[in-house]
Amino acid sequence: MVIIGDGPGGYEGALVAKQLGADVTLISSGGIGGSAVLTDCVPSKTLIATAEAIDEAAASGYLGVRIDGHPASKAEFNVDLATVNTRIMELVRAQSRGIRASLDEAGVRIIEGRGSLASDDTVTVTTNNHANDDDITIPADTILIATGARPRVLPEAMPDGERILTWEQVYNLTELPEHLIVVGSGVTGAEFANGFHALGSEVTLVSSRDQVLPGEDSDAARVLEEVFERRGLHVRGNTRALKAERHDTTVTVTLNDGTTVTGSHVLMAVGSLPNTEDIGLENAGVTTDDRGFINVDRVSRTSARHIYAAGDCTGVNMLASVAAMQGRIAMYHALGDAVSPLDSSAVSSTIFTEPEIATVGLQQHDLEEGEFRGEHIMLPLKTNARAKMHGHRDGFVKLFARKGSRIVAGGVIVAPNASELIHSVTLAVDNRLTVDQLAQAFTVYPSLSGSVAEAARRMHTTQ
Ligand SMILES: Cc1cc2nc3c(=O)[nH]c(=O)nc-3n(C[C@H](O)[C@H](O)[C@H](O)COP(=O)(O)OP(=O)(O)OC[C@H]3O[C@@H](n4cnc5c(N)ncnc54)[C@H](O)[C@@H]3O)c2cc1C
Repeated sequence: MVIIGDGPGGYEGALVAKQLGADVTLISSGGIGGSAVLTDCVPSKTLIATAEAIDEAAASGYLGVRIDGHPASKAEFNVDLATVNTRIMELVRAQSRGIRASLDEAGVRIIEGRGSLASDDTVTVTTNNHANDDDITIPADTILIATGARPRVLPEAMPDGERILTWEQVYNLTELPEHLIVVGSGVTGAEFANGFHALGSEVTLVSSRDQVLPGEDSDAARVLEEVFERRGLHVRGNTRALKAERHDTTVTVTLNDGTTVTGSHVLMAVGSLPNTEDIGLENAGVTTDDRGFINVDRVSRTSARHIYAAGDCTGVNMLASVAAMQGRIAMYHALGDAVSPLDSSAVSSTIFTEPEIATVGLQQHDLEEGEFRGEHIMLPLKTNARAKMHGHRDGFVKLFARKGSRIVAGGVIVAPNASELIHSVTLAVDNRLTVDQLAQAFTVYPSLSGSVAEAARRMHTTQ
């Protein structure tokens, strides 16, 4: 088994293949853990942990907390970004070392270099060892491609790593941006805009759509927009950034409505491109779609026999959890073990803003577009006793149920820790539980999860 790529798709696949008795070689060009661990999920969520600490501390005045007799105000908190980023990079390296240790312990052979397909059963590795210019050729019974994706860059806004940044470059900053312009209001743009604003930066979010988080639940996006407005985070909606120009210590972004925004830094969050060029896909008959993502089926098979692909290079859901699952599924399938095909309709995901937005399963647009017949309920969080105790005003629990069977089809939770709360809804979707079954399971009183059960209870019908 030869695995090209060291992110969750690759390393989780490697561990499963080893467990099933295969001889496994993993080719790593980016550092074990991949973008997920080194530049994307792990560092961004660690940065957000600091942002959350500030948000909570700043909100404590409402709960009666006093510092020297007066309630804390946001302005009193500031961060030492160099310390924050040092902590992030230490954590990232430790995480990467931990994964490497598990791979070593399992007996996975790791080769550092760039892998590519020489044919459908041979992988060539250009090693990182410059003393040895020879490529290594490895025969393979089965190949797993898990090469991930990278930030899309615009030629008119080329990142310089100092003031015009990709999301991979923010951890080099030693001082908090005075005014950060975030271009792109998808998940990554919204998370960084929210996070840096909480850390103390002035933030302008440039959104090309009339709503932030395009494609996500519009009620959830509306809550986030209201929170942004209340907190003074500027959103420039319905406008596209045409270029970003650096002038010494400032950056000016020109928008397509003819106006400009000037800040100290700009973060470009305008999507990802798959790492699928120059890896010899054509030598092995592996096809891609017109955007370069590798075509795969639900057990991660590509168009070539014995070649599988997992993770962001396939464009399927583009989450670390899904990459890992696709990698495992590929190996179960390749090695003849029992396998359940990937079910995208049961994937849960979270946007780590404040409040968090977590979703699973079928959504409002599926209902409106007739993907399934059913109904939904939306329960505001402010009716929840625990939320009142903590002073949480923003958010809701929304559930979707199928008509007739009353099976839970999906849900949206907008709440603090929605990433944790969504799990009960995910279990319901995955196990095809009815709203009554979800309602009947005990929840702790008082708890935010009580709102999930309450929403399900309100969907009970006597018919
Ligand atoms: C800012 C940000 C935050 C995110 N946060 C979350 C989150 O909170 N939760 C979540 O589930 N998902 C999150 N994601 C998505 C998640 O990071 C990706 O879905 C995940 O990294 C995909 O894993 P992968 O294994 O496909 O690829 P990657 O993690 O990208 O790893 C691929 C690796 O393969 C290496 N490689 C590439 N080509 C070759 C080659 N030819 N030979 C050898 N090695 C090669 C690359 O250098 C890289 O190290 C986030 C994404 C971003 C951008």
